[in-house]
Amino acid sequence: MKKTVKDINWHNLTAIERCDFNVPLKDGKITDETRIIAALPTIKYLIDNGAKIVLLSHLGRPKGKPNEDCSLKPVASKLSEHLGIDVNFLKSDNVVDDGVKNEIKKLKAGEVAILENTRFRKEEEENDTDFAKELASLGDIFVQDAFGTAHRAHASTAGIASFLPAVAGFLIEKELNFLGKTLDSPERPFVAIMGGAKVKDKIPVITSLLEKVDTVIIGGGMSYTFFKARGFEIGKSICDDEGLELARDIMAAADEKNVKFLIPVDTLASFEFDNDSPSETYDMDKIPEDRMGMDIGEKTIKLYKDELKNAKTVIWNGPMGVFEMPNFARGTEEIAKCLADLKDAKTIIGGGDSAAAVAQFGLSDKMTHISTGGGASLEFIEGKSLPGISCIEDK
Ligand code: AMP
Repeated sequence: MKKTVKDINWHNLTAIERCDFNVPLKDGKITDETRIIAALPTIKYLIDNGAKIVLLSHLGRPKGKPNEDCSLKPVASKLSEHLGIDVNFLKSDNVVDDGVKNEIKKLKAGEVAILENTRFRKEEEENDTDFAKELASLGDIFVQDAFGTAHRAHASTAGIASFLPAVAGFLIEKELNFLGKTLDSPERPFVAIMGGAKVKDKIPVITSLLEKVDTVIIGGGMSYTFFKARGFEIGKSICDDEGLELARDIMAAADEKNVKFLIPVDTLASFEFDNDSPSETYDMDKIPEDRMGMDIGEKTIKLYKDELKNAKTVIWNGPMGVFEMPNFARGTEEIAKCLADLKDAKTIIGGGDSAAAVAQFGLSDKMTHISTGGGASLEFIEGKSLPGISCIEDK
């Protein structure tokens, strides 16, 4: 068990809290506040318990240089609105400087300040010791609440914990409870649904899941690589040629471990990668040369729903088709609806595209847990040690 903010007496202490405020911006306005809202419980807890609070986050990819377009200023305003108190935005192109240090010294219990984007400094992603030490010098306890970057060893996500005691915030605690406990002791049948474009990216996670699950369901762009690996033609569908051999190995391993491995039996295929390109459903072994698979077909939807009907635990990562295009979103939506309707099953959505898809269909609150990290949740499921988690003290 990891220590959490509840294990600390915050009286007179300054919390340096790493959040994930990597929010989408358009013309300087935040277009999706989900990550800000998700961070509020830990911040509120710290306020209510008398801590002085300094928030850290990255936003976008400023590549180690100050960049107005990636400033955390709009996040500070939004936080002020949600918390109902003034959140002090400590503007500095250098993230930390003497002015920032002075402002932090002036903080009183229950007050909140936020530094500028940590990635304005190239030392952040280099996990530079001096930068980590500089950040650590601003407070007493490091609070880790950014699951989305927990798989990265950066100065503000892991390095800082070499110089300060580290505890988990509520978001991290929730991820460990849901992802961790589910993988350690799943109720069976345990089904993993894997989609997305590239086999190569998902190989380690599928390999690791073969040790744990009863069934693997494959969808999305990588279905065609698996099908081609079985010796079939796939028309113009995307194929991860480098992943073909790996796909064969995985299917052989699934066989050996008695894990049911389902790939689509039919597909909705169009001429071009375009929502308006005419489309038709074909059995997988009959995809015409000039067509590309864009979504799973009706027979596959039924096959997958039948399999999911009895599941007691489901982990889903990656869409079933090109769900961003309305004409090719049906497969992903039907699977999302099926999970939403499951009674007595734990449904865990790995972050990234599957989380976006579930939100797009308005089904987020019907799932047991939606992970706040895409890459991080994959590495967690793989069983890797995440630097941003392993640095948190055990109870
Ligand atoms: P990934 O980032 O690997 O999880 O892949 C997610 C992306 O895969 C989404 O943007 C989907 O649009 C895309 N995708 C899903 N199905 C297909 C397909 N049949 N052909 C091409 N791309 C796909």
